Amino acid sequence: MRVLVVEDETRMAALLKRGLEEEGYAVDLAADGDEGLFLAMENEYDLVLLDAMLPGRDGYDVCRTLRERRRWAPVLMLTARDGIADRVAGLDAGADDYLTKPFAFAELTARLRALLRRGSTERAPVLEVGDLTLDPAAHSVHRAGQNVDLTAKEFALLELLMRHPGEVLSRTRILEHVWDFAYDPSSNVVDQYIAYLRRKIDKPFDRDDVETVRGAGYRLRAARVAASARV
Ligand code: CA
Repeated sequence: MRVLVVEDETRMAALLKRGLEEEGYAVDLAADGDEGLFLAMENEYDLVLLDAMLPGRDGYDVCRTLRERRRWAPVLMLTARDGIADRVAGLDAGADDYLTKPFAFAELTARLRALLRRGSTERAPVLEVGDLTLDPAAHSVHRAGQNVDLTAKEFALLELLMRHPGEVLSRTRILEHVWDFAYDPSSNVVDQYIAYLRRKIDKPFDRDDVETVRGAGYRLRAARVAASARV
């Protein structure tokens, strides 16, 4: 198994390299984000161990860029602080797991083994409709390059709409997919969540892509797919 370690602190990097090699990993080191990105694009790694705080291009940026370039090697982020914001930023950037410094080496290798078992092949592809992107694996949504925070239900609702762009989805169908069969079909939970979603993905961007189709249900406008050509 080949691991890329991106870490600017030389002592830490040396420690990681030696420890991982003792565990039987082949280890390449990169001392900053640009070098890390270069090596990760050039080589096929089974794992990337990525320090969040790096000079120049930081770990979040490296991870996001790798995912944008369709590189799916599992990424374990090392963060300096145990802050929720740091962890969320890492996961939003497409990292698979994170570990807070300082950590026990045994925990690091346990996490790496778990990531290796998961592998890089089963990652769901990123959904794109116009300038909306949704990454089911990283559980992140972006519009026009901006991160959009959604609750679990809002996320599930948007994912359903994005899997069927331009298609009218009835309230019942939405209820069955996003909630469950037991949910009271007369409740207005779907309409409520459609409103929440509009408030987050449409209004701030001056859009109205989540359409109400009177008497039929809801539809995510797909016309923009053609209009906003993918870069
Ligand atoms: Ca660092």
